[in-house]
Amino acid sequence: LPDRLSPTGFTMGPEEVTKSIREWAVNGWVNMVGGCCGTTPEFIRQIAEAVEGVAPRKPKPVEPYLRLSGMEALTVRPESNFINVGERTNVTGSPKFAKLILAGNYEEAGRVAQQQVTNGAQVIDVNMDEGMLDGADAMTKFLNLIGVDDAIARVPVMLDSSKWEVIEAGLRCLQGKGIVNSISLKEGEAKFIEQATLIRRYGAAVIVMAFDEQGQADTFERKAEICERAYRILTEQVGFPPQDIIFDPNILTVATGIEEHNNYAVNFIEATRWIKHNLPHAKVSGGVSNISFSFRGNNVVREAMHAAFLYHAIQAGMDMGIVNAGQLAVYAEIPENLLELVEDVLLNRRADATERLLAFAETVKDVKGEKQVVQEEWRSGTVEERLSHALVKGISDYVEADTEEARQKYPRPLSVIEGPLMAGMNIVGDLFGAGKMFLPQVVKSARVMKKAVAVLMPYMEAEKAASGGSSSAGKVVMATVKGDVHDIGKNIVGVVLACNNYEIIDLGVMVPCDRILQVAREVGADVIGLSGLITPSLDEMVHVAKEMERQGFQIPLLIGGATTSNAHTSVKIAPQYAQPTVHVMDASRAVGVVSSLISPDLKTEFIEATRTKQEQLRTEYAARQEQRNLLTVAQARSRKPKIDWTPDAVTTPETLGVHVIENQSLAELVPFIDWSPFFHTWELHGRYPAILEDAVVGETARKLYEEAQILLNQIVEEGLLTAKGVYSLFPANSVGDDVEVYTDTNRDTLQTRFHFLRQQMDKGEGQVNYCLADFVAPKETGLPDYFGGFAVTTGHGLPELVAKFKAEHDDYNALLAEALADRLAEAFAEYLHKKAREVWGYGNTENLTNEELIREKYRGIRPAPGYPACPEHTEKRPLFDLMGVEQATGITLTESFAMHPGSSVSGFYIGHKEARYFPVGKIGRDQVEDYAQRKGMSVVEAERWLSPNLNYEPERAEARA
Ligand code: SAH
Repeated sequence: LPDRLSPTGFTMGPEEVTKSIREWAVNGWVNMVGGCCGTTPEFIRQIAEAVEGVAPRKPKPVEPYLRLSGMEALTVRPESNFINVGERTNVTGSPKFAKLILAGNYEEAGRVAQQQVTNGAQVIDVNMDEGMLDGADAMTKFLNLIGVDDAIARVPVMLDSSKWEVIEAGLRCLQGKGIVNSISLKEGEAKFIEQATLIRRYGAAVIVMAFDEQGQADTFERKAEICERAYRILTEQVGFPPQDIIFDPNILTVATGIEEHNNYAVNFIEATRWIKHNLPHAKVSGGVSNISFSFRGNNVVREAMHAAFLYHAIQAGMDMGIVNAGQLAVYAEIPENLLELVEDVLLNRRADATERLLAFAETVKDVKGEKQVVQEEWRSGTVEERLSHALVKGISDYVEADTEEARQKYPRPLSVIEGPLMAGMNIVGDLFGAGKMFLPQVVKSARVMKKAVAVLMPYMEAEKAASGGSSSAGKVVMATVKGDVHDIGKNIVGVVLACNNYEIIDLGVMVPCDRILQVAREVGADVIGLSGLITPSLDEMVHVAKEMERQGFQIPLLIGGATTSNAHTSVKIAPQYAQPTVHVMDASRAVGVVSSLISPDLKTEFIEATRTKQEQLRTEYAARQEQRNLLTVAQARSRKPKIDWTPDAVTTPETLGVHVIENQSLAELVPFIDWSPFFHTWELHGRYPAILEDAVVGETARKLYEEAQILLNQIVEEGLLTAKGVYSLFPANSVGDDVEVYTDTNRDTLQTRFHFLRQQMDKGEGQVNYCLADFVAPKETGLPDYFGGFAVTTGHGLPELVAKFKAEHDDYNALLAEALADRLAEAFAEYLHKKAREVWGYGNTENLTNEELIREKYRGIRPAPGYPACPEHTEKRPLFDLMGVEQATGITLTESFAMHPGSSVSGFYIGHKEARYFPVGKIGRDQVEDYAQRKGMSVVEAERWLSPNLNYEPERAEARA
């Protein structure tokens, strides 16, 4: 078990651990449970109970695949992609690593390994062959160190040494199944067999170098001969599984000026092809950077050589290679002139190839100067190449002229779309799918595409009568459901689909079911996509699914948005509708899902797989249902936090009542922006500011951030958005799980009452079950406590701004604007909270940096209705009434209690120093009945608003308005 499930190592309680284990057992993912500190007999007993009645899993028959592992499995199947082995943890190849190891700085050296893994290395090669080092000792130390760092240890290790004792020292440390690099017939068969036998016993795979008693194989014939001999010995005498044998037929340096070396790359490629054809299940690997050793110091040429070499070797069957992960150029992006020179050398195509590449290398020696040469270079390509480059790189500067040129060249405007433009977008789609391009880049590509299509549009219109109809891959009707205003995620999905040639009919936000279905019918939609942000939208989606069934729709339904999940889709939505109903996690999945749903070839299998998965999720859900053991609400209340209600527990604010901010300066909000969620919106995961330096997405993140600053500046300078807000503090006390707010400090007239929910999960004797009301002084203490609220928006002006960008075919900036408005709204909430703490008094002595503010290091909280501590959205109504939010700010509530416009935030202020956020989680019928009564609401209605939190199936699930 990964230690994620350790009861001591992570924040899961034993109850959750056993629950998880049961889920794993039901799925057949686990057949043994162990550990060290947590595995008391009692724990084991609980697990035994948890898995009782679960049938042992049936192991699948083992396929002849190369299976490696760190803490995670790495299976090399025939269809697997090329495997990158990180080369930087090598004292002979990396001066930086060597220096660290020699200085005994293993921590820092570990970071080199980590970087390799972050940059995409799926295996790391570790080499300690240095004259000054005790190799076995260094290997042991280093492996033990990285073995406890799960950022590194999740990948398998390749033990790289020419000394057997170092390899064996390494084998003793490996916790998964690694690879030995390498053994060979250099010292004869006996030694070879002995070492192979030991490796087999240690359970590792092996790399066999193409060496024999005569030395290194450099010709094709010698490579083939030695590999075949080794293969036979290993499989016939040692009993080595052929899939665990990896040949390294020697990648030797080309372009050395020595004529015999000219065919070295070709020899390797041919030997690879031969091995893959003649030695069943064996794999091929090699150290790639050797090929370009004669160009050391010139990374432009070297990277191009590596990419081109790999391109050909992989086609011949090369399975893995030792590379500098993170520094691999993309073959398709090597400038054409350079590619030709490089391939002339690698493929030995002309006698003067080396000279010509050397001459070129001179011109690009200065890497900085060179970049410019290469960058402008693309302008000299054919119009197809230029369009493709512009699309892949997201450069819209020349696209209008290039499209016009293509239009004149091609017979019809549509041919330009179907030809070069789609070809370019296909590359974009592939790179995105392969994780080599990121969302912001794709959205920029889409912008280039839109601009190109806009040039062609007038001509297409003119032609339409003759041509009849469009050629889109399919029509997708998308909408944010009734009562919800969530937009940006849906818009991103729309843009990504549109750039894959789907026609998107986006109905916007707050769209009633009837309208969605009517439009879908009118346009002949191939798919309907629903989006939602807040929990009540989940019910609305169920409603739409039911309606689609009732009205006999025959097209797939897609579900997406923040609160949606695969589990909810499977359990609640899919069963309502006979056609496929698929949850789409994020924009990068959307294209794959939609194309699989529409394609006649993929459809059946995809739908089948989805159904099976959903069925499984339903079973798991049902199993979980029986499990949950809740306290009664009375018991839960008896476990409320023990707060010492002494007079100094409450602070008296300077002023009370509602404060309105008509027009908040945006410039003042900028320092309060939390940028991390901004990157998450763009599906770039990581924390700001570190993400800007991230090895994988850093470049994209920096670019995005820069462009966001430009737009943000413009928004601030020109006042393109208007920020309005209110905040308030009132005398208040808690009464049970309610908070009473009084009109004045006499506390005898009730202004309004807020209703909160209490955790009911049984965390054990002596544990606490929270409710937000616990942090407000109870009435019976007689202490004069206070409670507040706020609502802010930065959404006014946003629709106009978005419309302006859309008119310019600039979805990229339209999405940026939406994302920035959201950021400003959250920043406004942070800013206002600070002000409120000052008014409240206790904030005056606070001395926090913006960073600390963003991390909410201050006293007090601002829980937001609809969030885990107060998940019920209708409480926004009394909050809004209390502060006159509609009139003061223009924010309105939809029928599902979403705030409109979208970039709005509201919440309560609670000032007690022990106040904290927590999730209410599942609640029982007793609390729901109690809550309904307190709110003066029917139980059925309460169940509807609380449905994501119910620990039971409500009796009248059909009772929707
Ligand atoms: N800096 C973040 C702030 C938003 S998330 C941003 O810019 O996006 C943090 C906010 O979410 C909190 O201030 C609170 O309003 C809300 N929140 C978080 N956890 C909560 C919980 N368990 N219950 C209620 N509200 C919660």
